[in-house]
Amino acid sequence: MNKELKEFLNTVSDKNSDQPEFLQAVHEVAETIIPFMEDHPKYKNHKLLERMVEPERVIMFRVTWIDDEGQIQVNRGYRIQMNSAIGPYKGGLRFHPSVNLSILKFLAFEQVFKNSLTTLPMGGGKGGADFDPKGKSDNEVMRFCQSFMTELYRHIGNNTDVPAGDIGVGGREVGYLFGQYKRIQNEFTGILTGKGQSYGGSLIRPEATGYGNVYFTKNMLETQGTTLEGKTLLISGSGNVAQYSAEKAIELGAKILTMSDSGGYIYDNNGIDREKLDFIMNLKNVKRGRIEEYIEKYPSAKYEEGKTPWHENGDIAMPCATQNELLKVDAQALVDNGCMLVGEGANMPCTPEAIEIFHKNKILFSPGKASNAGGVATSGLEMSQNSMRYNWTAEEVDAKLKHIMNDIHEACVTYGKDEDGYVDYVKGANIAGFVKVADAMIAQGAV
Ligand code: NAP
Repeated sequence: MNKELKEFLNTVSDKNSDQPEFLQAVHEVAETIIPFMEDHPKYKNHKLLERMVEPERVIMFRVTWIDDEGQIQVNRGYRIQMNSAIGPYKGGLRFHPSVNLSILKFLAFEQVFKNSLTTLPMGGGKGGADFDPKGKSDNEVMRFCQSFMTELYRHIGNNTDVPAGDIGVGGREVGYLFGQYKRIQNEFTGILTGKGQSYGGSLIRPEATGYGNVYFTKNMLETQGTTLEGKTLLISGSGNVAQYSAEKAIELGAKILTMSDSGGYIYDNNGIDREKLDFIMNLKNVKRGRIEEYIEKYPSAKYEEGKTPWHENGDIAMPCATQNELLKVDAQALVDNGCMLVGEGANMPCTPEAIEIFHKNKILFSPGKASNAGGVATSGLEMSQNSMRYNWTAEEVDAKLKHIMNDIHEACVTYGKDEDGYVDYVKGANIAGFVKVADAMIAQGAV
């Protein structure tokens, strides 16, 4: 490790020693950006990375709400306003019991680079609460969302900070949050993205992260002269990103072998086809059930409790659940079983040790900040449509999404191609994302 990188990481570690996920994300970016800055002196002496790791603002607040038994419940809410050099803060809200400052700061930090990569004018932010929507009634979720927004509304605005969904925050939660914002502010704006279509949501937004992930995979495969047709896929998760990654991959001729939730994974040797995916979508989005119920409906499939799917055979792996869900031992198993591509649908699902194995074995690997950027890109398109008071058709939005994913892929190749021709998408995405934010920060002076 070079001296400058070491010193920088030591300083960040000293200041944030209780934030392992945040330090992991910073390490991964600094590793590529510090050598890049050494080769490009115009980026030195502005304390760019030092500023980028310090959120512009962190808001932390109490969220009090009443459950169905009439009992008072208390949760902790957050919004990290990380960087606004190239546009209003933009990034999702996560409702999950694991939510803490470290996880949200890692997500906000990644978001800055991801949003820059989309080519749209969006800064980076992230927020959420340690609230678990699982097992709560609709009314409880509504009361929680209303209480959460009763504090958050004063910190956001359509030219300041525009939140969206993430784990545990889907269409239902965005609707309740939007309703409360509108009630308090008495204004109808595009304050959140991922809205329902009857009140300003963009067509294709729910599908966008998964579709974009598969478009990016398609681009990567094309560099090797191949396509998704006939490829077998191991997908983790069964939420928004997993569902729409599966949908697009099926449409492009791939065979989906696995999906999962936090309880375990299902493996279907016959492939999860359109009809089976509809069953999963209904199970997860309407019945809010568990993935193991799949085998009651399709008994020839198997369910592996408490396990992840990475030890199965598949051409392509798409981790679409959560951070650090694919470990070194899993990466080795994937490589040993002939996997040729790993595309991150989730944010930071692969550990640094796992990524090292992919790189060492020269298999195609895309970091989430590139391959899952289609979601926030389409959120950016939703903001544009809201400002214009106009809706594009699904075909128009999908065409723009494809175009953006192509551009991101091209940028990764430009900045990430090694001398031997192998594309290091991690390096490519970090540098391409960094350059635009860094140029804006230099132009705006020491703020
Ligand atoms: P979601 O709809 O809430 O689904 C999350 C899925 O991951 C569920 O199947 C969930 O299972 C599983 N999961 C969550 N925590 C887990 C854990 N600790 N261990 C194992 N499985 C776990 O969320 P999502 O929107 O699909 O987000 C998934 C990932 O994509 C996250 O990393 C998110 O940051 C990233 N992402 C999302 C978007 C977007 O537009 N939604 C955009 C970019 C990136 P359970 O139901 O059992 O919890």
